[in-house]
Amino acid sequence: MSDKKVRVRFAPSPTGPLHIGGVRTALFNYLFAKKHGGDFILRIEDTDQTRFVEGAEDYINESLTWLGMNIDEGVKQGGEFGPYKQSERKEVYVQYADQLISDGWAYYAFDTPEELEAKREAAEAEKTKFSYDMNTRKDLNNSLSLSEEEVEKRKSEGVPYVVRFKMPENEEVSAVDMIRGEVKFNTAILDDKVIFKSDGLPTYHLANVVDDYLMKISHVIRGEEWLPSMPLHVMLYKALGWEKDRPEFAHLPLILKPTGKGKLSKRDGDKAGFPVFPLEYTSPDGEVASGYKESGYLPEAVVNLLALLGWNPGTEQEMFSMEQLIETFSIERVNKSGARFDPEKAKWFNHQYLINMTDEDLAKRFMPELKEKGIDADSALVTQVVSLVKERINFISDLWEQVSFFFVAPTEYDPKVVKKRWKGDVPAFMAELAIELGDVSDWKSGDIKEAIAAKIEAKGLGFGLVMNAFRLALVGGGFGPDLMTIAELIGKEETIARIKAAVEALA
Ligand code: GLU
Repeated sequence: MSDKKVRVRFAPSPTGPLHIGGVRTALFNYLFAKKHGGDFILRIEDTDQTRFVEGAEDYINESLTWLGMNIDEGVKQGGEFGPYKQSERKEVYVQYADQLISDGWAYYAFDTPEELEAKREAAEAEKTKFSYDMNTRKDLNNSLSLSEEEVEKRKSEGVPYVVRFKMPENEEVSAVDMIRGEVKFNTAILDDKVIFKSDGLPTYHLANVVDDYLMKISHVIRGEEWLPSMPLHVMLYKALGWEKDRPEFAHLPLILKPTGKGKLSKRDGDKAGFPVFPLEYTSPDGEVASGYKESGYLPEAVVNLLALLGWNPGTEQEMFSMEQLIETFSIERVNKSGARFDPEKAKWFNHQYLINMTDEDLAKRFMPELKEKGIDADSALVTQVVSLVKERINFISDLWEQVSFFFVAPTEYDPKVVKKRWKGDVPAFMAELAIELGDVSDWKSGDIKEAIAAKIEAKGLGFGLVMNAFRLALVGGGFGPDLMTIAELIGKEETIARIKAAVEALA
């Protein structure tokens, strides 16, 4: 690595909610910057006005904030290289487009969209592909084929035009990708990309390269889908005379669908019921897409699971805090091949973070849900209750199902358990038990168990059968943590009342 100050940027286009693939790109940039004591910049690439979506920029900011990625420079944060939104930098790009034209690296093209479409169709009819390049450019309407006067005339008449990059005809170029190694290409296979549009704004390519240069970006870390753009970007650096300031490139592997081929999409998430966006997102037409946050994921868990999508520490360690990631992360350990997304593993991470939390913290996060249900529970009790079941949950929202009976008596009894356990001498036994439990003076799980065991023995019934029936009465089914602890925690009166209620309801 060179000794330039590390400055990286996350450069999303505000075209909708940020996909977790984009979040992973942001995270790797962030980790790389912080590992090397560098800056993490958020640049909004909004030069394609046709794809602009209201609210998308806020969504990006909120997502990064939720996940704990602190932005050093950006639209909101400011910084000495601003503005950080491309639509506010129009004049900057005009200047460089003009420079490229006067240096012979670019040219004006007047071809209308209809003319180009006709070319494409004609090529298709002959089973070839139309490409605006060194072979075709002479026969098209541009400042290379038209006379100078004609070009000036059209421009002064206001005929719309774009600016295209004039790709050299036969140049061997090589560039190093930090993940993929050396990438070689010959310019002969590249076309003349539009770098400036008729609407007065640059395309992604020009704006991206100009800004990376002006913002002194040292490393471009982005998704694999931008790898095909690298040759053009390398050529732009050369054409603009910035070759020695060119940033280093790293193209991150795709995040793949849980099964089958291809990139993880929103549809995969919809089908299998997992989010692909960090935060819930309501599109302008009112459609709601679920988010990790609203689905109950902790930001620490999301950061952890995303870090391991395409990167590995080279050890067995799977649990990483942000600080540990910053310390351990290296681009050299990013894989070349795609990283398969595993929704079950995602839940596993959340589970790990929940069980590693203190019981007090877990309880604190559960209290609002209890309150919402109208339950005013003592926090010491809630703390004890969550500690009993936390191994069984992936989300805070799983808690209620596991612990509701600590706070409200069952109103229904699982018919399968009833059929299997509530039979023979059991109902009569339970009716008597309800009375006899009244004599247990010290209501502690050990004493309760002793009292019940003595009675079972006296009646010669099966211990298991009775215990299952007792559980049915207390929780309404065949689940839950240690039964005597449940009895102790709900209290003597409540235990007796629940047995009586079951005897009555199941008679
Ligand atoms: N605006 C591009 C995007 O939406 C940025 C690609 C890059 O990082 O160069 O992903």
